[in-house]
Amino acid sequence: MRCLVTSARPYDEQFLRAANQGRHDLVFVETTLSAETAFVAQGFPAICPFFNDTLDAHTLETLARLGTRLLVLRSTGFNHVDVPAAEKHGIAVMRVRDYSPYSVAEFTIGMMLTLNRHLHKAYNRVRDGNFLLDGLLGFDMHGKTVGIIGTGSIGTALARILKGMGCHLLGYDIAPNPVCLELGVVYVPLEALLRKSQIISLHIPLVPETRHLIDAERIALMPEGAMLINTSRGPLIDTKALIAALKSRHLGAVGLDVYEEEAELYFRDHCDDIICDDTFERLLTFPNVIVTGHQAFFTREALSTIAETTIQNLDTYSQGKDSPNYVRAAR
Ligand code: NAD
Repeated sequence: MRCLVTSARPYDEQFLRAANQGRHDLVFVETTLSAETAFVAQGFPAICPFFNDTLDAHTLETLARLGTRLLVLRSTGFNHVDVPAAEKHGIAVMRVRDYSPYSVAEFTIGMMLTLNRHLHKAYNRVRDGNFLLDGLLGFDMHGKTVGIIGTGSIGTALARILKGMGCHLLGYDIAPNPVCLELGVVYVPLEALLRKSQIISLHIPLVPETRHLIDAERIALMPEGAMLINTSRGPLIDTKALIAALKSRHLGAVGLDVYEEEAELYFRDHCDDIICDDTFERLLTFPNVIVTGHQAFFTREALSTIAETTIQNLDTYSQGKDSPNYVRAAR
C-alpha cells in the first residue's frame, strides 16, 4: 500500500524501513498533519501519523476528499484522532495496542529517582567542582506508598518494579487488574489514593472524563511534599493548578514527560526561538520539577515493535482481515 509517514524523524524511517522489507510503498515527510497541511496526503490511501499530528474532523474531511482510506497510528493513544469523524468519512483507524510498557514504566522510575535523589542537580554540581551534599538529601523508596492511577499495561509494569523496591502500592482504575491484585496492589477510590500516596503516577488514557483529572481540588488532597509524575498525557493535569501547588510548596516534586500544550513545542528544535508559552516557561523555573519532551516510549525495543505492528496493520488492512488493532468509535 502507498503510505505517507508524517511527522517523520530519521529514527522513524530507520525502524519502519527495516520492518517493511519493501512490502509497502512508504514515503516519509517531516510535515505535521493538520487541516492546513493535509494537502500533502494527495495520492496516499494510507497515512501513518504520530501523536503530534492533528486528525480532527476538518483534517479528516480533507484527507477523505484526497482519497485517504486508512490511518495507521504509530501510537497506542488515539486522543489526537476524531474517530467518529474518521468513521463518517470511511477512514479506518488502526493503532499499536501494546508495544513496550517497560519503556514508559522504566522511564517513570527514572523520573522518580532523579527527583528523589536530585540527580539532575548532582550532575551539574560535580561538573562545576562542587562536591557538597547540602540540598541533595533524598528518601528511601523502600516502604513508601506509591499510588498508580491506571493499572493497564504500563501501570502493571511499573507496579512490578516498585514492588521489587519494597513500596506499598495503591491503585485506581475503572477495571481493577487481576495481575496487579496478585502483585499486592490495593485498589482504593481516587480520593483515598491521593490522600495516602507519597508518590502518585498517572497511567490512564486521555479521554473527556480524564481531562484535568488532577485539578486544584485533587492536588489539595495529596500529602504535603508529595511527588507527582505524569508520563501519560499532558491534559490529565491542570497545569495552572500544578504551578500554584508548586509555588505554595504543597507539592514536593513533579516529573512531566508530557505537557498540556506540547503540540506547539515538542518534537522540534526551538533553541533559536523565543518560547511564548509562559506557563511552560514557569514550570522550568522550579528546581523540583523535571520536564522531558515526551520521550518515555523512546527505546529501541519500543520503536521496533511500533514499526513491526504498523507494517502488520498495513498488511491486515490490505488483506481485508479483522484485527483488535482497529479503533472503533464508542457506541
Ligand atoms: P492501557 O490501556 O493498557 O491502560 C490504561 C488503563 O487505564 C486501563 O487499565 C483502563 O481500565 C484505565 N482507565 C481508562 N479510563 C479510565 C478512567 N476514566 N478512570 C480510571 N481508569 C481508567 O494503556 P497503557 O498502555 O498502560 O498506556 C497508558 C497511557 O500511557 C496511554 O493512554 C498513553 O496516553 C500513555 N503513554 C505515554 C507514552 C509516553 O511516551 N509518554 C507512551 C505510551 C503510552
